[in-house]
Amino acid sequence: MHQKTVNAVIVNAAHDVRCEPRDIEWSDDQVLVRVERGGICGSDIHYFQHGRAGMSVLKEPMVLGHEFVGVIEQAAANSSLKVGQRVAINPSQPCTQCALCQEGKQNLCRSMRFMGSAQFFPHVNGGFAQYVAVNPQQCVPYGEKADAKIIAFAEPLAVCIHAVRQAGALTGKRVLVTGAGPIGCLVIAAALASGATEVVATDISERCRALAEEMGASAAVDPRDEVKTSMWAENGGHFDVCFEASGAAMAVSSLVAFTRPGGIIVQLGMGAPEVNYPIGPLLVKEVQLRGSFRFTSEFTTAVRWLEQGKIDPLPLLSAEMDMHEATHALELASDKERAAKVQLIF
Ligand SMILES: [Zn+2]
Ligand SMILES: [Zn+2]
Repeated sequence: MHQKTVNAVIVNAAHDVRCEPRDIEWSDDQVLVRVERGGICGSDIHYFQHGRAGMSVLKEPMVLGHEFVGVIEQAAANSSLKVGQRVAINPSQPCTQCALCQEGKQNLCRSMRFMGSAQFFPHVNGGFAQYVAVNPQQCVPYGEKADAKIIAFAEPLAVCIHAVRQAGALTGKRVLVTGAGPIGCLVIAAALASGATEVVATDISERCRALAEEMGASAAVDPRDEVKTSMWAENGGHFDVCFEASGAAMAVSSLVAFTRPGGIIVQLGMGAPEVNYPIGPLLVKEVQLRGSFRFTSEFTTAVRWLEQGKIDPLPLLSAEMDMHEATHALELASDKERAAKVQLIF
């Protein structure tokens, strides 16, 4: 075992995040990565604000962060990775043994150890630290010319590419995205990159609607504007595919009306625990409701798309702050009237 003391962004409890030294350990089979930067995600914000993210409750201090990139400081003994290589880190650590993993559905693995998650005890520490030890399979090298601040969007983009794939072929399709935070906005870009001809977004925030248009939405509508939204319900429904990225109960229950017969709804927003759902139109229109959770091989696809410039995520980057300002950065990232994605620099 090797050992090192590094500064890390640690959440102790709700509203108690500190940048503190901690010891990390790694074996010869692992890779030591010097972290360059990382994006603050919804789950980091939830741990900061509530000490929990969905069902995962903090029981001990945990290093935050699952969207990060870095440079290999020490390569694993038996891998093709090299010291100095720039890598995006896939935060997924599926068991690889269970039936779901064997079927290629590693994202659904019941023993998934996802970095920066309090789902299991002891918690799985995240990547918001000067250095982090990972397994070689988690490292996706990327080209010298690519910008780290762009590649740091690989994890949220992977979530969105997975959601787009859940919907099947999008070529020529009309698409609605409800919720235009970083995930909704990246779904807009991923749907357009996948051939959708029309992508409309909704969000109650004017700032989010402007970002949606910057990311390629042909229109961005306030969902409370019934004059506009009622037109989507005419003739059985306007959209072929709807992506629900807000988690808001109103948005979830509104989508069946806006989806054309035989259309598809993909749910990727998490929020309202329960929703009054119009089952009638769902069945008479044979609308398919599909869940979307994290990603599998889409992580590597996301790195390649970002490297090639197929998607430009930079309109979503609102601020870059030093790791010592983590509390301030989390507060800023929590306020969607001021920020979309905030990155920490290590
Ligand atoms: Zn994320
Ligand atoms: Zn598994």
